[in-house]
Amino acid sequence: MQKILSFHLVVLIALIFTACSSSESSFDEQDGVNSFNKDSLSQHIITLASDDFQGRRPFTVGETKTVEYLTQTLKNMGVEPGNGNEYFQKVPMVEITPTSDPTMKVTSAKGSFTLNNMSDYVIWTENTDSVISLNNEEVIFAGFGVVAPEYNWNDYAGLDVKGKVVLVMVNDPGFSSGDTTMFKGKEMTYYGRWTYKFEEAARQGAKGCLIVHNEAAASYGFNVVQNSWGRSQQHLDTRGSKEYRCPVEGWITETAAKKLLNTIPDGESLLVKANEKGFKGTLLNLKVTTSMKVKAVFNESKNVIGKITGSKRPNEYIIYTAHWDHFGIGKPDAKGDSIYNGALDNASGTAAILEAARAFKSMKTQPERSIVFLFVTGEEQGLLGSAYYGQNPVYPVNETVANLNIDVINNFGPTKDVSIAGEGQSELEDYLKKELDKKGRYIAPEAHPEAGHYFRSDHFSFAKVGIPALTIGGGIDAIPQGKKYGQKQQELYNDNFYHQTTDQYDALTWKLEGGLEDTILLFQIGKRLAFETTWPAWKDGSEFKALRKK
Ligand SMILES: [Zn+2]
Repeated sequence: MQKILSFHLVVLIALIFTACSSSESSFDEQDGVNSFNKDSLSQHIITLASDDFQGRRPFTVGETKTVEYLTQTLKNMGVEPGNGNEYFQKVPMVEITPTSDPTMKVTSAKGSFTLNNMSDYVIWTENTDSVISLNNEEVIFAGFGVVAPEYNWNDYAGLDVKGKVVLVMVNDPGFSSGDTTMFKGKEMTYYGRWTYKFEEAARQGAKGCLIVHNEAAASYGFNVVQNSWGRSQQHLDTRGSKEYRCPVEGWITETAAKKLLNTIPDGESLLVKANEKGFKGTLLNLKVTTSMKVKAVFNESKNVIGKITGSKRPNEYIIYTAHWDHFGIGKPDAKGDSIYNGALDNASGTAAILEAARAFKSMKTQPERSIVFLFVTGEEQGLLGSAYYGQNPVYPVNETVANLNIDVINNFGPTKDVSIAGEGQSELEDYLKKELDKKGRYIAPEAHPEAGHYFRSDHFSFAKVGIPALTIGGGIDAIPQGKKYGQKQQELYNDNFYHQTTDQYDALTWKLEGGLEDTILLFQIGKRLAFETTWPAWKDGSEFKALRKK
């Protein structure tokens, strides 16, 4: 009896061991978690957001200090250089300052008129030629300016816009028509995002692209366009690239756009007709003339990059990202403070990824896949550092398992929920749900699906080349205060701190426990992936699914 029992026991134990090692590998749920530390997290934020770092604008002394700090911190942790022997990837950029004519002349058989720069329209260029002009150019209205084969939609069908200016609407037919069966209904697809409009107009060979502004469809007012564009702006240095961009890019108010449309009979009704399937764009009965002088200063910024080499599958990569940059020194506030410290945006996310790196290094069992920590530049200038990485990847795109991004962490205490952008994109969301379930937490429904947040931070540069990417943000269901309180905290941040000089670390009011918990979630997802052999996929209906060659 004794003997038989122990024999069974041995078999049982053997079975358990086999089961564990085959499915779960050497995965240990708790490994590394205890190394997360609120004080260490806040210490990074305090340093990065200090006045000494001058708001971390690319090309400034603030960049030099930030890159030095990140590199030194990675070295001290024992994280390997992520780009050959270097801890950085050079990102060639250019700062372009356009000076536009005060007006745009519009000549039409129905009479001529002028539109005013900045009040009726805002234009700029990514070209570095010293003068860019529109000289009596024809204008074509091209609906939403969308070519989407999967929705059987082509606003450019039958139109030849080469060398002409196109006028297109923001967002997509799903939002604009209110028809939930079109595109993704209210949720913005990438076809609705303004960056897409310029990309498609360029693919069509247009000379200029003007987007008709509409507050609901854009999810922000024309004042945001006026404050963001038509002035000094950093871009990637595309000299030597064969990729064409429209020399003139810009936004036009709906009122001014209607003036252009009404040069043909019943012209402004096209803004509604464009919602219909099979809509045909049309040449307007007018010509436009304006120009801008261009000052271009070329320079180099840096993405900081570190790596922990995987023990079993070193050539498969999980990439964590956070943007290190912010706005630097700018317009002084009422108190005379001109440093945009960017403590939450995004010293906090940068610090979170440093904490994740430390946790991975502290693990008893080395991750089986390689873990990359990428701190990107120029996010505030238009996702530049991550876009550059996407186009010039240090690690092969098809060997990159996932991108996990963090842009601003919660600083008002623990929440039951976390937010993600663009729900339904990839299986990484299922990994997140699994981690949240264990803690009795959940994914908050997206507050503004029409705003296209999935296309607004660095993870998007990975999605664009087909790498499944997830970005997480703070929730609002505060413990124990509830959703109203959390909602209020987010509104306060948006109104009083977001992109303002006041975004500073405050030891009295900041509570980083929640942000730390969210960071641990992102760590756990990466860790799980690091011990798996699976490749998380894009979900059906994602506009990035077709790009993935894995
Ligand atoms: Zn920002």
